[in-house]
Amino acid sequence: MSNAFFQIPEIKNEPVLSYAPGSPEKAAVKKAIAGLKKKQIDIPMVIGGKRVRTKKKVKIRPPHELSHELGTFSKGDKSHVEAAVKAALKAKPEWEAMSWEDRASIFLKAADLLSGPFRARMNAATMLCQSKNIFQAEIDSVAEYCDFLRFNAKFAEEIYAQQPPVNPKAIWNRLEYRALEGFVFAISPFNFTSIAGNLSCAPALMGNTCVWKPAESQIYSAIVIMDLLEAAGLPPGVINLIYVDGPVAGNYIFNHKDFAGLHFTGSTGVFQNLWGTIGKNISNYRSYPRIVGETGGKDFVIAHKSADAKEVATALVRGAFEYQGQKCSAASRAYIPKSLWKKVQKYMLDDLKTIKMGSPEDFTNFVNAVIDERSFDKITNYIHQAKEDPKADIIAGGNSDKSEGYFIEPTIIVAKDPKYRTMCEEIFGPVLTVHVYPDAKFEKTLELVDETSPYALTGAVFAKERTAVNIATEKLKNAAGNYYINDKPTGAVVGQQPFGGARGSGTNDKAGSVLNLYRWVSPRTIKENFNPPTDYRYPFLGEE
Ligand code: NAD
Repeated sequence: MSNAFFQIPEIKNEPVLSYAPGSPEKAAVKKAIAGLKKKQIDIPMVIGGKRVRTKKKVKIRPPHELSHELGTFSKGDKSHVEAAVKAALKAKPEWEAMSWEDRASIFLKAADLLSGPFRARMNAATMLCQSKNIFQAEIDSVAEYCDFLRFNAKFAEEIYAQQPPVNPKAIWNRLEYRALEGFVFAISPFNFTSIAGNLSCAPALMGNTCVWKPAESQIYSAIVIMDLLEAAGLPPGVINLIYVDGPVAGNYIFNHKDFAGLHFTGSTGVFQNLWGTIGKNISNYRSYPRIVGETGGKDFVIAHKSADAKEVATALVRGAFEYQGQKCSAASRAYIPKSLWKKVQKYMLDDLKTIKMGSPEDFTNFVNAVIDERSFDKITNYIHQAKEDPKADIIAGGNSDKSEGYFIEPTIIVAKDPKYRTMCEEIFGPVLTVHVYPDAKFEKTLELVDETSPYALTGAVFAKERTAVNIATEKLKNAAGNYYINDKPTGAVVGQQPFGGARGSGTNDKAGSVLNLYRWVSPRTIKENFNPPTDYRYPFLGEE
């Protein structure tokens, strides 16, 4: 146990570089993309610090350029899950015995490497792998990941400093923030490189060792995370990266007595299924596993008649269509008062006419491809249904093409029925559904916003009138874990807006905050008595 104190200086958010024409950062990332595209890499799993390859190779292609092969990854099986768990358990005693300052210094160094020599490579890999334009790659894989690494070190320091009162004369009380007993299983989604990194780094910072299973469509940038962490000095076995099908990993891990925690980000259905499995196996575990999950969203924007139409339109265009709407926080349903709609619609349609779609390698493209064929088919299915449904009008976009890459135009559906399917279900693509409501029914519409979907991740209200803001804030109290006033519902920044939702959107343990880190420790209270009693009798036993 080490509670010695070396204070981490004040942490600042990593600056987001501009990548303007002629900038050195733009030249560096262009060079990194060209370098990556020139060679085909064979990506190994990383188990106990060893690079593990198998004969089963899966091809990796950029979602926006299916004719190009970036390389392959080695698919693992049950034996790799077993090996990863073994390696995590083997590395655990030494890792948790290390002082927290030493652990933190590894992650702080990783942030500095990412901000410097790894920056261009991490951006390039994320752009090619997940089809992000440079701005989306930079705010995610560099800025947010640096912020997770640095702010979490500071939050860890805050946790370790929390100690019960001391009576130095007689009693010394201490809290020892032990790691969980066993290993943590981190399962990450495709859409944020930073989340993929944080899901194992956050528990690891607190002394845990992890098995990490990324989404297959993120493996090309996942290996850069492992290279970065190794370069920063992460010991072998602390984080073990495996590429296996979810159920293959789950069947072994959720039956293992040392399974101590799940750190998950992904869809609601998968998380509920995993929770059910853990519940069924509960008597097999050494401890009650910590279950932390950030899941789906159906994020709203509601405008009041006093709102500024241009501000609403800009928030919707950015909030709904940046990264092709593949953010858990993306605006996907909007409620606009009749008196404002004509203007909001015009501004949005004007904007959409100027938006270019294509490869992220062309920096003038705002919209790129969706992640894979499954997503493409799912999203376009919603659009085709809306085309045929008299209850829905498509007023922008609606076209798609998967011949060269998985491209779907930013699409706006207007739904007369506020419970129309695309107002309720998570689509996870560039599709925004708008419901136009009578100006006088603002409060009724707020109730509708609250009831319409099972999720409660992000949401925004736009209004100039303060009373309208206040009514919305109160009525929508449980409708969003991240709630915005006159701002788009995406783009939460670590250290500023801790992120997470409740209801069907997750356990709301707020990634990138001290709340999340508390889930990865199991405190032991230690009371030391400097003057132990030598007589069992209390004074009240005395005779009058
Ligand atoms: P997904 O649920 O399809 O996959 C997430 C991860 O779970 C992947 O690694 C996948 O391989 C794994 N998985 C799937 N089935 C499994 C099983 N049976 N056992 C073990 N693992 C299994 O999600 P996705 O498509 O990668 O990501 C998009 C989803 O993630 C959306 O629903 C989005 O809202 C959500 N998301 C939420 C947040 C948040 O902070 N709330 C952030 C990002 C993404």
